[in-house]
Amino acid sequence: MRNQLQQLIAGTQQIIPQEDLVKKLETGRKLRIKLGMDPTAADLHLGHAVTLSKMRQFQDFGHEVIFLIGDFTARIGDPSGRSKTRPPLSEEQIAYNTKTYFNQVSKILDPERVTIRYNSEWLDRLTSREFVALCGKVTLARIIEREDFAQRIANQQTIGFHELLYPLMQGYDSVALHADVELGGTDQTFNLLMGRFLQEHYGQEPQVIMTMPLLEGLDGVAKMSKSLGNAIGLAEPADQAYGKLMSISDELMWRYYEILLHTTPEQLGDMKHAVERQEAHPMELKKRMAHQIVARFWQPQEAQEAQKRFEELFQKKDYSQATSVNCADFLGKQTWIVDILRHVGAVPSSSEARRLLEAGAVSINEQKITEFKATIVLESGMLIKVGKHRFYKVL
Ligand code: ATP
Ligand code: MG
Repeated sequence: MRNQLQQLIAGTQQIIPQEDLVKKLETGRKLRIKLGMDPTAADLHLGHAVTLSKMRQFQDFGHEVIFLIGDFTARIGDPSGRSKTRPPLSEEQIAYNTKTYFNQVSKILDPERVTIRYNSEWLDRLTSREFVALCGKVTLARIIEREDFAQRIANQQTIGFHELLYPLMQGYDSVALHADVELGGTDQTFNLLMGRFLQEHYGQEPQVIMTMPLLEGLDGVAKMSKSLGNAIGLAEPADQAYGKLMSISDELMWRYYEILLHTTPEQLGDMKHAVERQEAHPMELKKRMAHQIVARFWQPQEAQEAQKRFEELFQKKDYSQATSVNCADFLGKQTWIVDILRHVGAVPSSSEARRLLEAGAVSINEQKITEFKATIVLESGMLIKVGKHRFYKVL
């Protein structure tokens, strides 16, 4: 039990309350573990892998893992961390997004031992009477005290009435499922606590809340998110994932080591020291990180191949052909891609830049840039590729 508890606690941000988790585990029964995801986009990403990996641990300890698809709540849209009402999804979009979820989830969870449920099963069937009773359990003050709503009120931004219902619906899912533990990112804390609160009101033993840290996206600033476009999708080809991982900053690399690979603070400290003493090169450590992440969430074989291709492209062939360009004025600053292309001498005019960008002929560290308006933060060592044969190395 001790061993199980220790492993389950590892890597979590918060467990509310830990004593209850201990008690539940001590009973020795199979616990019901809930993880909800709204099918708001077709792709799961590495951020989701953080919570899914914790689910996998529960599975391996023999608990019942319930993957709850929020097909009903997706019609409301989770207001967590949002400053605007989400556009509603159509039935077709929800159905399409849901379909592709299974394959992606199976990369991390054991598909043979997962219970899949849809919250429309019970939420579609609530009578108005039951629904009003549910609403009666919570006060408006409690709902609007959450930060995102409070902020929208302070900024005089509108809040749709249906958005207030989101936490109630998600909480009611825990009642319907008799959940023992609910998992989620830290952005879900309020919604998860609502589940605990409602279960008590419905005479159930309340669930334990387990939150996982939020993984930052490729920009290193915002959380990795389907809707922010800074994600590495679990369904992307391994090569592309590897290339994206190699494009992150050194700072973010430590975070990915910690959150996705569970590297301990001691191990991280050792690696950072080695870099400071110039005994290890950040590029080598980044390759190790990218390799381990792809091996874990894709296939070890694919990680091997992706690394080989990356090395061929960057280190052997193209690097040697690349023209080195001093970009000191641009380093670490958001810079318009067209200014960069002009500076390195790849294009004579912005119209030529537009043509190349729109044709998909421009990439930086293997990531295609197709937006004319894109801005990039250049870092020394980056490789800019224009067309098939022109390479520029940023110095
Ligand atoms: P959206 O931006 O549309 O809200 P999302 O990427 O946040 O999408 P959700 O379906 O809302 O995805 O999240 C499902 C679960 O995955 C939640 O528990 C959420 O906290 C968690 N999660 C989402 N993004 C991350 C992330 N970057 N790091 C860790 N966990 C995450
Ligand atoms: Mg979300």
